[in-house]
Amino acid sequence: MARIVQKYGGSSVGDTERMKRVAQRVKQYSDEGHQVVVVVSAMSGTTDQLIAQAKELHDNPSEREMDMLLATGEQQSVAFLAMAMHGYGCKAESFTGAQAGIETDGVHCKARIKNIDPERIERSLEKGNVVIVAGFQGASEEELITTLGRGGSDLTAVALAAALNADVCRIYSDVDGVYTADPRIVPEAQKIDRISHEEMLEMASLGTKVMQARAIEFARNFDVELEVRSSETDEPGTLITRESEEMEDKAVHGISLDKDEAKITISRVPDTPGIAARLFQVIADSSVNVDLIVQNVSEQGYTDISCTVPEADLPRFETDLAEKIRTELNTDEITSDKSIAKVSVVGVGMRTHSGIAATAFQALADADVNIKMIATSEIKISCVVPLDDASKAVRTLHQAFGLAEKTSGDE
Ligand code: ASP
Ligand code: MG
Repeated sequence: MARIVQKYGGSSVGDTERMKRVAQRVKQYSDEGHQVVVVVSAMSGTTDQLIAQAKELHDNPSEREMDMLLATGEQQSVAFLAMAMHGYGCKAESFTGAQAGIETDGVHCKARIKNIDPERIERSLEKGNVVIVAGFQGASEEELITTLGRGGSDLTAVALAAALNADVCRIYSDVDGVYTADPRIVPEAQKIDRISHEEMLEMASLGTKVMQARAIEFARNFDVELEVRSSETDEPGTLITRESEEMEDKAVHGISLDKDEAKITISRVPDTPGIAARLFQVIADSSVNVDLIVQNVSEQGYTDISCTVPEADLPRFETDLAEKIRTELNTDEITSDKSIAKVSVVGVGMRTHSGIAATAFQALADADVNIKMIATSEIKISCVVPLDDASKAVRTLHQAFGLAEKTSGDE
């Protein structure tokens, strides 16, 4: 008998027919004698719809009330799924995040899990129930309902797997695994069989939208092995697990693409010590997240600084933030560019293979893709390129690192 945590995404429970298929799948495991804890997302579209309705009532709704509202999406799914399970003669009980013992801090809309008290889940399992937990939510010490940020049901699943010491944690959705690149852009992209937490975290943060980045970070920190797979087939998916030596055999595991960033350039900034500190302090004070930063070689006492920020933050930047920077740095020349994309090459093998950056840059040059910015870490190289060249850049890099060929070590 194993203890299994399964998470089903919004599209996997998107209508009652799919809900029934999930119930049947869960029942199989329960019938085999396993203890099953199921985490579900809101039915697809529900969270977006609730947000849209809230915005019809107020431009900037209270975050406390948003949590109160959004948590209901997942509550619907758990109740429906429990009913479907009962319909198949399977014992099941649903719980909200708070009832499942998920305690968070009090930061509404992006709360962090502080502690999980799994006692109630344990008791329900002991009685022979399938336990169904509403994803994406918990409660603060003040007993206020909180949510864990968009895509947060993944985090619920990983955190419960850790707290319950589960043997298996599976994330079921409409994608059947993690691919070497987005198959819509690169048709010959391959499903990756095993990938390290670290690589998956980079890929998720760099635009691969298979799982919530915070959930993977949690999995890495608590050493939770998880598998991403399809809820419509029985095919194995991608195992996200602790790094092992053979993972380094291949220099590069995947190519990520992020089109949701914009580039900001502040020109003719006086080149004096402390200028970058002042600039980024102003930006940080307004909670805009900066990613890549490039400072140009200085000429005649002036320099240019460029950085990328989430495109969603651009309106805020263009209104008040640009003004603050003008005042703080005494410069007029601030421009923004939305037509960029960040293409990244990710792989733990970069630690031991050399020449990866040279290969990447040469391939992009041969494809006539102009690199506007570069950033590297131990296991990734990111290039900012013109948006129009984004797909070409992904295809070029995928080809340059031979990712379409499956290596035997991957099988
Ligand atoms: N329903 C939430 C969202 O759409 C959480 C989730 O699906 O994981 O972001
Ligand atoms: Mg999701």
